[in-house]
Amino acid sequence: MSRRAVFVPYRPKTILNKYKRADHWFWTRYSAYPYLGCQHGCEFCYCREQKYSPYDDPTDFAYVIKVKENAPELLRRALSRSPVDVVFTADYQPAERKFGLSRQMLEVCRDLGFPVFVLERSALVLRDMDLLQEINQQAPSVVAFSAISTPDSPNHARVRQLEHLAPPVEKRFAAMEAFAKAGFLTGVSFMPILPGLCDDDANLEAVVRWTADHGGKFVLAGGLTLSDQQKDYFFGVLRQRFPDLLALYQRWYPPASYAPRNYPRHRIALRIRALCQKYGIRDRVPRPILPGDKRALNKRIVERLADRVYEMEIHQEPDYHIWAYRKAAWAIEDLEQNIGLIYQTMGLKGLQSIPNVGPLSGKVVEKMLVELQNNRTT
Ligand code: SF4
Repeated sequence: MSRRAVFVPYRPKTILNKYKRADHWFWTRYSAYPYLGCQHGCEFCYCREQKYSPYDDPTDFAYVIKVKENAPELLRRALSRSPVDVVFTADYQPAERKFGLSRQMLEVCRDLGFPVFVLERSALVLRDMDLLQEINQQAPSVVAFSAISTPDSPNHARVRQLEHLAPPVEKRFAAMEAFAKAGFLTGVSFMPILPGLCDDDANLEAVVRWTADHGGKFVLAGGLTLSDQQKDYFFGVLRQRFPDLLALYQRWYPPASYAPRNYPRHRIALRIRALCQKYGIRDRVPRPILPGDKRALNKRIVERLADRVYEMEIHQEPDYHIWAYRKAAWAIEDLEQNIGLIYQTMGLKGLQSIPNVGPLSGKVVEKMLVELQNNRTT
């Protein structure tokens, strides 16, 4: 028997999660959401983990929706005291039709000039295209969609069983096309790639092809993580619906293992990279940067360093090497001065004097600066 959703309004004290610097995946510095729980109820959703979920019973996650009724006021107060950067926000689960809080939170972002990153499983986001266009015109933003299979994929019917409360993926791709035509940067978050269900070559190619065919510019891939009560919950779902996969998942996710063990995730990432190249899109999100941003050059360098880090990760280069580049990226993100001026006045030595930029990463940054400079003048 299907269960009806229950809405529980409440008034939290804070809404905005602030991070020290933008992450290297979505390029977001803040996040703020109006609802706790999600009526899309994807069985693999990490939000059922203890640290994210206020539910003792994980099945409540999709049916008991906590509504932050003062979300817009809290967001306005918090953002008006914060430097402008990208906000991960808006949630178009069915509750949004009733409460409209995502729209009100977007209005706050528009009024205060903050760019947004919206990631959706619902085409309801089309309702707010007008407002998102206003935001996008003043501060380049991203509207992306989650998709882990397509109707062309061999296991699509099985995957749908794991996200059966979410709108069909065809509607998400149609919405993506509408946003692409309206001039937005859009693409797909291909997360989580479910072992044994979404990681076959036919599905990897179908997701990338559908993205490119619908105006998407990137496919950002990520694996499934399983922790505490969500792990028990997901194993229970497999036991009931796909008993043939249970033993495999128990092997890939042994006790105390959060990420899959002995699973070829690097090979899959490399395959997605090759497919993205084939279809003329990227496996990374291009960083949106505000027009006139005084630190635009620093941000472009950070973007390139983060791309380099990802490249090293998927080629399984040594950790110390990867960390050197990651720390250099963080240092340049934190830098108040324009890195171009530092290079103009002090050359390579100036770059190498930035904390955590070493002799090798300094040379790499120098090469990136010269390339960016040449691109600007050609
Ligand atoms: S739509 Fe996203 S947040 Fe909602 S259940 Fe699915 S994965 Fe979780």
